[in-house]
Amino acid sequence: MINADDVGGVHIKYLYHCPRQLWLYARGFRPEALSEAVQMGEAVHATSYRRATPIDLGSARLDDLDGDLWVHEIKSASKPSVADEAQAIHYCYRLHKVGVAARGAVLHYPKTRRTKRITYTPAHKARAEEDIANVLDTVASPTSPERLERSACRGCSYQDYCWSD
Ligand code: SF4
Repeated sequence: MINADDVGGVHIKYLYHCPRQLWLYARGFRPEALSEAVQMGEAVHATSYRRATPIDLGSARLDDLDGDLWVHEIKSASKPSVADEAQAIHYCYRLHKVGVAARGAVLHYPKTRRTKRITYTPAHKARAEEDIANVLDTVASPTSPERLERSACRGCSYQDYCWSD
């Protein structure tokens, strides 16, 4: 079972997208490795932000940290989501934990050329800690959380597992 230090960006993203996905992921289900949506995301990364320097924080791996201490994240979606924001806040939190005073995050959406800037605040620190606690609670559940409505599962790489009946 994971502990607080193991919680990374993917856990946070799945917490917001679908708790069942998080629960499955934490138990080693990895269908996303093969999914078209993930491959598309990797292609967007490869073509949109070549000068980025990925930062590896162990459980969390972020796309880039610029010289002014802003995290940059490249997204394959068209517009910002709550999950994207939570993930960016998580990365800022992790950086602060290792002594890097990240000022915030800039989310990039190359498909629509949109960006969203989030300034990291003390309230974000509290939210990041709450998110980590929620991840651990969800993962510790002995049974998998309920499925989302079928319409919300569109594009999810876990559909074969969740909807094979
Ligand atoms: S298929 Fe639906 S219920 Fe299953 S993990 Fe994906 S979003 Fe969640």
